[in-house]
Amino acid sequence: MSKDSDVHIDTLLQHTATAAFDSQTGSAPVNLPSMRASTVRFKNLDALETVQRRKAGGQRAATYGRMGMDTHAALEQVFCELEGGTHAYLASSGLAGITMVMTSLLSAGDHALVADCVYGPVYELDEALLKRMNIELTYFSAGDDLESLVRPNTRLVYVESPGSLLFQMLDLPALSGFARRHGLVLACDNTWGSGYIYRPLALGAQVSVVAGTKYVGGHSDLMLGAVVTNDAAIAQRLNRTQYAMGYSVSADDAWLALRGVRTLPIRMAQHARHALQVCEFLSTRPEVARIYHPAWPADPGHALWQRDCTGSNGMLAVQLRMTPQASRRFVDALRLFGIGFSWGGFESLVQWVTRGELARHQYWTGADDALVRLHIGLEDPRDLIADLKQALEAAA
Ligand SMILES: *Cc1c(COP(=O)(O)O)cnc(C)c1O
Repeated sequence: MSKDSDVHIDTLLQHTATAAFDSQTGSAPVNLPSMRASTVRFKNLDALETVQRRKAGGQRAATYGRMGMDTHAALEQVFCELEGGTHAYLASSGLAGITMVMTSLLSAGDHALVADCVYGPVYELDEALLKRMNIELTYFSAGDDLESLVRPNTRLVYVESPGSLLFQMLDLPALSGFARRHGLVLACDNTWGSGYIYRPLALGAQVSVVAGTKYVGGHSDLMLGAVVTNDAAIAQRLNRTQYAMGYSVSADDAWLALRGVRTLPIRMAQHARHALQVCEFLSTRPEVARIYHPAWPADPGHALWQRDCTGSNGMLAVQLRMTPQASRRFVDALRLFGIGFSWGGFESLVQWVTRGELARHQYWTGADDALVRLHIGLEDPRDLIADLKQALEAAA
């Protein structure tokens, strides 16, 4: 799969997953087509059994459409290149990628330590499924004494860095040291970094899970997840669970992700640049109590961001000195920011974060202030700033 390469990832992303030349004509389209298939047919039984043997030996070989065809194989390779992994497994959404991690690495009676800043639906996965399977999670925050939380049946440390909603930077190398001392697997949700500006495997995690729905796809038109590892034993467990659970991705969605990822470098750079311009504007406003964005120098995670990240993106959260009613007026008054979940597409979005969601995060100390999360899209930042300004005035 992925091999150490001496070209920059920006170059690799333009020269990977292209179509092979036709042996007769010596020509090929640049792009690999979307290879839709349920059934794969074989010339004879020998051919079938040869493919099955390769598959049993751990190689990628398609015997049936559910396991994915060439389009999927190409996308798996892209995720390996992005994350610096040796094996990638696709799922139909980012959340399905997370459930693949949990169900591959945890069994009945096991315990896992989970950062309290993880993606909200992980709490739902815990309540709806893991508890029923007799798997117990303990939520921790960055300041907690982890040594005292480890039990004899602890198997996994599951984190997200920077965290959801407040973009809290975690010290991944320190967490990796802790996990290794106790023989635990460290897995990290890397949707924020998407393998491009943050690489958990290089920082000591063994598993990185990414919602390709966000920056990899980049156009708000597909759902996709990927689980990447550089550990052969973990790869085997993911492989078996992915197969047994029937995780499957449409070839068209894999194709859209391949199409989207070509422009990941330029999109990410523009999101990041414009988000900082928005931070600069927000920092001049009396309504703004605090900005959560690790690339912003006043963010408490800035030093870790400088040490561990190679860039930033369009995500930030704004703590507003406003009543809930005023903050709702602010959100409703925005014209260029769509009210909606998700992020990583071309467009700007706003999410009005509820008290219930914030209560899970020990990192939140905003008391009665309001919090809105913004995704800074690819629009001209002057227009976005003018929109934010008029909405702040409308809220007053
Ligand atoms: C959106 C998101 C996910 C889930 O991805 P879906 O494709 O929407 O299921 C997981 N983790 C993080 C951090 C996310 O923002």
